[in-house]
Amino acid sequence: MKNVPTLVGIPFDGNSSYLRGSWAAPPAIREALRCDASNQWTELGVDLGVEGAFADAGDIEFARPDGSAAFATIERRIDSLLRSGQRPVSLGGDHSITYPILRAFARHRLPRTIVHFDAHPDLYDEFEGSRVSHACPFARIMEEKLAVRLVQIGIRTMVRHQQEQAEKFGVEVVEMRSLPAYDRVKVQGPVYISFDLDVLDPAFAPGVSHWEPGGMSVREAIAHLHAVEGEIVGADLVEFNPVRDRTGLTATVAAKILKEILGKMILGTKTR
Ligand code: MN
Ligand code: MN
Repeated sequence: MKNVPTLVGIPFDGNSSYLRGSWAAPPAIREALRCDASNQWTELGVDLGVEGAFADAGDIEFARPDGSAAFATIERRIDSLLRSGQRPVSLGGDHSITYPILRAFARHRLPRTIVHFDAHPDLYDEFEGSRVSHACPFARIMEEKLAVRLVQIGIRTMVRHQQEQAEKFGVEVVEMRSLPAYDRVKVQGPVYISFDLDVLDPAFAPGVSHWEPGGMSVREAIAHLHAVEGEIVGADLVEFNPVRDRTGLTATVAAKILKEILGKMILGTKTR
C-alpha cells in the first residue's frame, strides 16, 4: 500500500562505542507495541489497530556477520521501501544506522528537515578512530547535505569539538536546559524524525547504553514530538538496549514513542 508507515527492524549495533545490545531491540519493541496492557489508539486519536494502518517489513538480515557491508544493505533496503511508496520507520540498532537511512532518503530528495531527539549531538568528525561510530552520523549527514536543516533537541553533553561542528554545519541545537521549546521544532515541509531513546532521562528509560541524567520525561518528549508541524516522511527509533532493560519499562516507553510517531505520520499535516 502507498504512503503507509512501514516498520523495518535494523538489528545492528556494530558501531556502538561503549556497550552492545541494541541489536536485540526490534523484536522487543514490537512485542511491547502489541502488548495487551494498553490499547492501540494514539493520544492524537489514531487507531493503529485498524487493518492496514501501518505495515511491517520485518527485520533486515545482514549477510556478513562482521557488519562490513551493513551500511550498503541498510541503504538498499530503505531505498526499496521508498521506491514502493512507503514511509520507513526504522527500529534500531545503534544510531550509526541513521546515516545510510538518510542516504537512501536523499536519493528520493527527502526530507528537508531532520528533527533529532538525543542527549548527544552525534556530530564527532571521528570517535575512537571511527568515522562511522554512533557518535558521528550527523557529521556525515551534514557533510553530504542529506538534509537542509538539522534541529537537535534534548542535547546535554556538548563538548567544544561538537560545538564547532554544529557551527560549521549550521545545526540548530536546542539544549535540554532551554526546554520547553515547542517553537523550535515547529518545522514545516517534509520532516524526518530521528529519536535516540537516551534523550529521555534514565529514570524513565534505563534501557539505553549511555545513561545521561537530566533528560526529558516521556511527557516532554511526546509534547515536543506533537509540536512538529511538517509531514513526517520517515523516522527512526534507536539506541534501545534491552540488555539494560531489567523491568521491561524501556520497551514500553519505546513502543509509546513509536505509537505517537506512527499516529502523527498517519494524520499527516491535518491536525494535531
Ligand atoms: Mn544518538
Ligand atoms: Mn544518545
